[in-house]
Amino acid sequence: MTVDPSANFRTRVEQALGDDNLRTALDRATSRLRGKRTTAVAAIDLERLRDEARAIREHSIRRLPEMLEQLERNLIANGCQVHWAETGTEATDIINAIARQHGVRRAVKSKSMTTEEIRLNEALGQEGVAVVETDLGEYIIQLADEPPSHITAPVLHKRAEDIAELFQRELGMHPTTDPTEICAAARRQLRGEFLAAELGISGCNFAIAETGTICIVTNEGNGRMVTSMAPVYVALLGIEKIVPRVEDAILLWQAVARSATGQETTVYFSMSSGPRGPGQVDGPREMHVVLLDNGRTRILERGYADALLCVRCGACLNSCPIYREIGGHAYGETAYSGPIGAVVTPLLADNPATFRELPYASSLCGVCREVCPVKIDLPRLLLDLRHNLTQLKASPRYERTAVRAFARAAERPRTYQRLSRIVRWFMRLLPQNQDGDVSKLPPPLSAWTRSRVFPKPATPGFRELWRARGTQDTTSGDG
Ligand code: SF4
Repeated sequence: MTVDPSANFRTRVEQALGDDNLRTALDRATSRLRGKRTTAVAAIDLERLRDEARAIREHSIRRLPEMLEQLERNLIANGCQVHWAETGTEATDIINAIARQHGVRRAVKSKSMTTEEIRLNEALGQEGVAVVETDLGEYIIQLADEPPSHITAPVLHKRAEDIAELFQRELGMHPTTDPTEICAAARRQLRGEFLAAELGISGCNFAIAETGTICIVTNEGNGRMVTSMAPVYVALLGIEKIVPRVEDAILLWQAVARSATGQETTVYFSMSSGPRGPGQVDGPREMHVVLLDNGRTRILERGYADALLCVRCGACLNSCPIYREIGGHAYGETAYSGPIGAVVTPLLADNPATFRELPYASSLCGVCREVCPVKIDLPRLLLDLRHNLTQLKASPRYERTAVRAFARAAERPRTYQRLSRIVRWFMRLLPQNQDGDVSKLPPPLSAWTRSRVFPKPATPGFRELWRARGTQDTTSGDG
């Protein structure tokens, strides 16, 4: 991995843009996923599905407190143990305590961005619990010791050639890029892990309030083994994952599958409603559900309820011209990248200014809004965040001073005119290309011309055009 998530934003972006293999991997994967989505949605009344999906999510978030109480009641009635975690640390403490209580040393996990959000693997590792990822993509990046770079396709930043090399190095496999062979090799390794694990951990795609059911959608069947084979099962979910009824979960499942991977539905839809009952031959003996806030109610309080409608399909990432160039790691130390990541990462943080660059990692072209299955107006949210960050004075002091100085000059036409003349004169002294555009600005503006030119001032300028137009209008009026 060439991108160092702990480096500053500019460095991360430069590292990503300088990695040809990463750019190839991103281009291949996002093009394939976009193509599959386009075909899948062409076959249905997409607008209707999006309207219905959004209505379900809006209803769920509007009635969040009462539905969470209903979910808790029904989970307990089903025999589950329910835990509430206000922060990520509280959630990891709860899960560590469960592991300690059962003497757990080995755990298996299905793909879950919420566990990435709270860095659960690290927290369990510190307690001596080895967690093995069982989703193929997650398994690959665990072997590579890298974080995921996409909400639904964690290994999207790697080419098939990179994965083949990794399997050769880590598992002693013969060189091949055949996905079936790679998958079979991973399966052979994971089978033993499923059998040996004392704890299964999953995230949750939808939590059904009326039945107290945790649903996860997968394509590999690993989710079902994680939730049913180990004696103890823990489901971790953000409180926004709730839906009222079974049919709502089914409808959202279709919206997610078509948007994420271009499938009508995913291969598996696993529903867990409680531990193994009397007379049942399989399932966990104990089932725990951890309901995580970790900044979600703060998102509501900050007026960004729309961000909680997200069903984590990843379609906005696949279509975003910025994500497609830089990939997920360039967004920094966050589980969520792309347009939705640029919104929720600062909002989930105690101090949104920590991630102040992310809302600017967007051209605001609007394609993310067009593909979102729940019609989240992401460009609007990004603009609102930029506005809030400005109010918080999150941008660097020099930037604020420059904008203030510009605003002052722009309010005084004579000063502005004089300054414009000085700038024009100064620009003539700078290196130019054959079109007369400035090819190299001096520091601190040099970053601009590192990858583009600074266009020469237009001639005639706006003032001349305006004056000429005024003359013409007067002339025609006279005529
Ligand atoms: S914002 Fe919309 S498109 Fe993006 S991941 Fe969430 S649901 Fe999917």
